[in-house]
Amino acid sequence: MKSQTPFKNYQTNLRKAGKILDLTAKEILALETPDRVIKKDLTIKTESGKSKKFTGYRVQFNNARGPYKGGIRFHPDADLDEVKALAAAMAIKCAVVNIPLGGAKGGVQFDPKSASKKDIEKITRAWTHAMAGFIGKDKDIPAPDVYTTPEIMSYVMDEFEKTVGRSEPGVVTGKPLSLGGSEGRGTATAQGGAYVLNELLSVMEIRQKKLRIAVQGFGNAGYNIARILHEAGHKIVAISDSKGGIYDATGFDPQEIFATKKEKGALPSGPELLQSGARVISNEELLVCDCDVLIPSALDNQIRADNAGAIKAKIVLELANGPTTPEADDILAKRGITLVPDVLANAGGVTVSYFEWVQNGMNFYWTEQEVLEKLKPIMQKSFTDVWMLSKTHGITLRDAAFMIGVKRIRDAMQARGRI
Ligand code: NAD
Repeated sequence: MKSQTPFKNYQTNLRKAGKILDLTAKEILALETPDRVIKKDLTIKTESGKSKKFTGYRVQFNNARGPYKGGIRFHPDADLDEVKALAAAMAIKCAVVNIPLGGAKGGVQFDPKSASKKDIEKITRAWTHAMAGFIGKDKDIPAPDVYTTPEIMSYVMDEFEKTVGRSEPGVVTGKPLSLGGSEGRGTATAQGGAYVLNELLSVMEIRQKKLRIAVQGFGNAGYNIARILHEAGHKIVAISDSKGGIYDATGFDPQEIFATKKEKGALPSGPELLQSGARVISNEELLVCDCDVLIPSALDNQIRADNAGAIKAKIVLELANGPTTPEADDILAKRGITLVPDVLANAGGVTVSYFEWVQNGMNFYWTEQEVLEKLKPIMQKSFTDVWMLSKTHGITLRDAAFMIGVKRIRDAMQARGRI
């Protein structure tokens, strides 16, 4: 059920923060208008020899604080509204963690699961070729998102460099280490989320060692947060992917589940594969399952007015972008459920992307330990700023995070004389 479009959800969050900040109508309009929307027809010759057309997007939302930054999504739902909402969220997110970057997002609306590896490479190269005049290390820096991987980022870098005729690794982040990627980037989104969760547990004085965690989505963000929290001693009671989920009150070992998924192409489901006591559940059931912390790590629009009342978790940590609608936010807040918003909870990913871009610029690289030593204080300080502001104003963590992000972007636009 889509109550509002993802971009309308962004506007609702922006206007709430704008009201508390006393922004003018002109300032609000400036913050809800993308700088540039690029839409390109992409034509490839598929492996089967057919000519196929796709639509590629790049929305450059705001660059007042630095070059545009944001991932590329390959998904059937990646339409212009969704890409625009994700681009706006990137601008807010970079401002919340105070890194000197703006916000953008790209996408191609197709199902990568029904395309061959070679065709996905061709679509990536076609997108990059079409966008080459708009991206670049000092202009706009793409990165991975849903169903786009480090390997796909290699194609972006290679095609861009071939098109412009120079070496420029900083044009894209989330690259493999062999091409100038950063140590720690692969797990950064989850690691940042784990740092934020630890801070939250500390200020909420929750000292329980074995929290019951449910994770929706088992890709880069979902698998890694499940693994990190399992290693920290918590119980991963529910896991899901696009096909459905599994639940076990005694907890799963995410690495074992990952190995099965890799081997069989799906989460364990039959009695011969599932540990005793475990059962198969739907993604809808996962959201309302018995757990302490719910971590949506897949797609947007998952926690809505029709299911927010049934959520049993006391904490929601949004590793996915836009998983909760504004109506659901209100319901969760009234029910005393603490939600850590995407623009803070998953900002570890873009923060290490920023580190990757910095390292590419210096042509000098940090160890994983150095990366984590730089990431942790940024996530901790960002959390503390948001938490304190939410307490000062008696507002949700989302409203507080938006207040911080919106104010920083508005100040930068004002300083440039744009508003
Ligand atoms: P991914 O492609 O690695 O994994 C996506 C996962 O979601 C897969 O396990 C897939 O099976 C699952 N999935 C797809 N549709 C689903 C559905 N309807 N219900 C449940 N699960 C479903 O993608 P990712 O990089 O892990 O991104 C996941 C979310 O995290 C997205 O919202 C993305 O925008 C956000 N995010 C990712 C990063 C990053 O660095 N990768 C950074 C910030 C935010």
